[in-house]
Amino acid sequence: MAAAGVAIFGGGPAGLMAADRLSAAGHAVTVYEAMPTVGRKFLLAGKSGLNLTHAEGLESFLGRYGEARAVLEQAVRRLSPDRLRQWADNLGAETFVGSSGRVFPKVMKASPLLRAWLKTLQLQGVTIHTRHRWLGMAAEGGHRIATPDGERIVRPKAALLAFGGASWPKLGSDGGWIDSLRALDVEVTPFRPANCGFERAWSAYFRERFAGAPVKSVTATSEAGTVQGEFVISTSGVEGSLIYAHAAALRDAIDRSGHAVLALDLAPGRDRARLIGELHRQGGKASFSNRLRKAAGLDPVKIALLREISPDAPGLSAADLAHRIKALPLRLDRTRPIEEAISSAGGIPWSEIDERYMLRRIPGLFVAGEMIDWEAPTGGYLLTACLATGDAAASGIDTYLAAGA
Ligand SMILES: Cc1cc2nc3c(=O)[nH]c(=O)nc-3n(C[C@H](O)[C@H](O)[C@H](O)COP(=O)(O)OP(=O)(O)OC[C@H]3O[C@@H](n4cnc5c(N)ncnc54)[C@H](O)[C@@H]3O)c2cc1C
Repeated sequence: MAAAGVAIFGGGPAGLMAADRLSAAGHAVTVYEAMPTVGRKFLLAGKSGLNLTHAEGLESFLGRYGEARAVLEQAVRRLSPDRLRQWADNLGAETFVGSSGRVFPKVMKASPLLRAWLKTLQLQGVTIHTRHRWLGMAAEGGHRIATPDGERIVRPKAALLAFGGASWPKLGSDGGWIDSLRALDVEVTPFRPANCGFERAWSAYFRERFAGAPVKSVTATSEAGTVQGEFVISTSGVEGSLIYAHAAALRDAIDRSGHAVLALDLAPGRDRARLIGELHRQGGKASFSNRLRKAAGLDPVKIALLREISPDAPGLSAADLAHRIKALPLRLDRTRPIEEAISSAGGIPWSEIDERYMLRRIPGLFVAGEMIDWEAPTGGYLLTACLATGDAAASGIDTYLAAGA
């Protein structure tokens, strides 16, 4: 293949956004995607509604990136949540703000947006080659690609790697690029699950009876703070949005000390004094379950969870029982495998990347999206940062090429 304009390796949201921006700016862009179709994880995200971004104030939004705020802020301000909504609107995927502030396309799926986006890219002259896998850099220069017709080398003026993280590898982001980059002396921090479920051994009775049951309206406290929400009992432990909100802190605690504890408040609407009073009033004749239902408003799954974690609960004084209901220690032993996680932490450290999103060691080679080492909770923060870094890297490539590279 001859020398080309810009090559984008990886056709997820980060790569496609870079292709969009660069082609709109007049560059000849070719996207190389390993899978038979682009945007597979983006489409999967659409199965739960496609939470594109969040409507909270920008300050609070930026705070969700934790330590990574400092490095992501410029890109997220450039392609802010408001601009992202405008972008989706322009593609005919009008968005709305859900009750929790999360922003979704009105159709609650990704396919119409992706279809319209690919049409725009086509009109802007972007060429997309699927079943084209980046293998690494050739010794004589250029990028080695495995294609259905054998291996080829392409020599673009600049290239972007947007290979995603390491969750759900069957959708394409399988971390298969890590060794090739390490061979070029680019550091890659090992991937770890983020926004993942956790394991603990339930009793056979509890697992069989309650696996799949939602635990609604609870407050959970970890080193990440206190968050109200809901989670789901799984056969091997717990999963769901409230767990994901604490996942980074829980994962890090398990790495440090072999286990983590999430403190659950099963009755967040009742303060401790009221709860003690109600438990006293309902004492005596009522069964333990009825007492918990009437005094604390606990439903069957919360009652079973209390008994599972705290088998001594029926014998506790009203004060101790109230304490247990307000701070039930849910011990967790392991993360679920990264293959099941919503996203991953780890990847290319920021120290390897300059302000244009170019690898310091490889001039002309840029990176974007989840393959860079940052993490964020669910709520639209993941896609926003992937799209924003794709946009920022496109700007970096444009600047690099304008400088006559
Ligand atoms: C179940 C689920 C639900 C989600 N829901 C949401 C949500 O509602 N909101 C949200 O913000 N985020 C959500 N996410 C996360 C979000 O989808 C990802 O963060 C985002 O897709 C990452 O974008 P990316 O472009 O960096 O990588 P990816 O989307 O992973 O795309 C990377 C692309 O690179 C390709 N590739 C990999 N290696 C090669 C190679 N060697 N050569 C060529 N191509 C290669 C892959 O095939 C893939 O197409 C969800 C994730 C999952 C798993």
